[in-house]
Amino acid sequence: MEFLMHQFRQRLLPRLPRALTTPCKSHSSCAPGHAPKPNSTDSISRPIAHIPLVSRLFQPSNLRDVGQESRTPSEMTCKSQRLMLQAGLIHPSNPGCYYYLPAIVRSMEKLVRLIDQEMQGIGGQKLDMPSLCSAELWKRSERWDLMGKELFRLRDRHGAEYCLGPTHEEAVTELLASQGTMSYRQLPCCSIRSPESSVMSQNLDLDFYVAGSLHVVKVQADTGNIGGELSHEFQLPADIGEDVLLVCDHCSFSANTETMESGWTGCPKCQQGTLVESKGIEVGHTFYLGTRYSHIFNATFNNSQNKPVVTEMGCFGLGVTRILAAAIEVMSTEEAIHWPWVLAPYQVCVIPPKRGSKVDEVPRLAEELVLTLGEALPGLRGEVVLDDRTQMTIGKRLKDAYRLGYPYVVVLGQKAVEETPRFEVICQQTGETVFLSRDGLIDLLRCVETV
Ligand SMILES: [Zn+2]
Repeated sequence: MEFLMHQFRQRLLPRLPRALTTPCKSHSSCAPGHAPKPNSTDSISRPIAHIPLVSRLFQPSNLRDVGQESRTPSEMTCKSQRLMLQAGLIHPSNPGCYYYLPAIVRSMEKLVRLIDQEMQGIGGQKLDMPSLCSAELWKRSERWDLMGKELFRLRDRHGAEYCLGPTHEEAVTELLASQGTMSYRQLPCCSIRSPESSVMSQNLDLDFYVAGSLHVVKVQADTGNIGGELSHEFQLPADIGEDVLLVCDHCSFSANTETMESGWTGCPKCQQGTLVESKGIEVGHTFYLGTRYSHIFNATFNNSQNKPVVTEMGCFGLGVTRILAAAIEVMSTEEAIHWPWVLAPYQVCVIPPKRGSKVDEVPRLAEELVLTLGEALPGLRGEVVLDDRTQMTIGKRLKDAYRLGYPYVVVLGQKAVEETPRFEVICQQTGETVFLSRDGLIDLLRCVETV
C-alpha cells in the first residue's frame, strides 16, 4: 500500500500544482502550430448549438446581472459562498442545502474525473453501494448506537430499520466477506465509492496527498466513530476553517486540537518547537482500520502458506464539494473566483463586441474562432464559451467573466477585423493582457490542461 500511495502522490502532485498555480508561462516551449488548419467553410456550416452560449447557460445571476450590492452581507457566511452565489454557481434551497447549478456541476465532474484517473492509476476499481444501509449491519459494528442523533434513521413500510450510510465500512466489509476467503494474490484490493472512497488492503501507509499546491497539511486526528487505531486529516489552512490545528514551528508535527490534551504548547515529537494554532478546513481523512470491521464481518484471506488471516483494512474519504469550496475560499479574491485551473467550469470565454458597434461583423468571426479552437485543440472542445449577450457592453461582460474566473478571456475588438486579426487575451489569474494572432492564441491555449 505504501507503494500504491507513493504512486498516487507521484501522479497527483505533479498535476494539481500545475492546475493550481500558473499556466504554462512560456508557451513558446509548447510545440508550435502542428495543428491542422481547419477548413473554415466546413467549420461554420456546423450547427451553432455546438457552442456553449452564455445567454443560454442556466446561471441565474449572470442572466439577471445581479451585482454584489444587491445582496445583504448577512446572507453570507464566507467569501466562497458569496462568490458562488453571485456567480450563479449555487442557489439556496432549504437551510443548509443548495442547488448546484450547471457551471459548478461541470467543475465537480472534473474533480471526480481527476480523482478517478488517479485512483485507476493505482489500480483502484470503482463500485457503488446503496445509500440505505440495514440497521442489522450497523448494529453488528456497534455504530448504530455510537452514532447517536447524527445518524439519519428510517423505516420502510414493513418496519425494517435502515440508516443513510454516512460512510460504508460495514457495507464494503460485508461485501468482501460475502466472496468467501480471498487469496493473498488478490490483495491489496482497492475499491472506490463515488463520491467517497474506501481502500482495503493487507497493510497500509495511507500517507497520500490531496491537493498539491493547495498546501494541504496532514494532521494527526481523532478516529471518531469510524474507529481503528490511527487517523490523519488533510487540512487546508483557512481562517474560516472549523477545525483548530496545532502546527509545530520546528518539525513536521501537526495535530487537530481534538487529539491533544489541552494546554500543550511544546511539540511532543521534536521536544524543541512551539505549537502554533491555526484554523483549517478538512478536505480529506484517512483511517487505518486494522481489523476493526473485518474481524466482525469475518473478511479473511488465505496467506501464502494458505492459512486464513483476517484482512487488515484502511479507508479514506475525500470531500468532493468541500475540496472545491475550500479551493475557491483559499484562492479567490474578494471580487473574483480563482479556480484550480483544471477545474474551472469553462477554460475560455470569448467576448464579441456590443451589437451595433463599428465592428459589427465580428460576432460571426467569434463563432468561427470558437469552432476553430475546438478543431485545433480537441481538449478544449466544449470548454470555450461564447458570451453572445451582445446587447451588453464588452466592459459589463468582462466584469461577469472576471467574477466567474474563466482562466482565459478572449475579446474581439477593432484589431480582430484587421487584415491580420489580433485578439485581446486576458489571462485572469496573472492579470496579463496580450494581443495574439489566431495561431498565437492556439499556441497559448495548447498548454491548457483539461480533464
Ligand atoms: Zn516539532
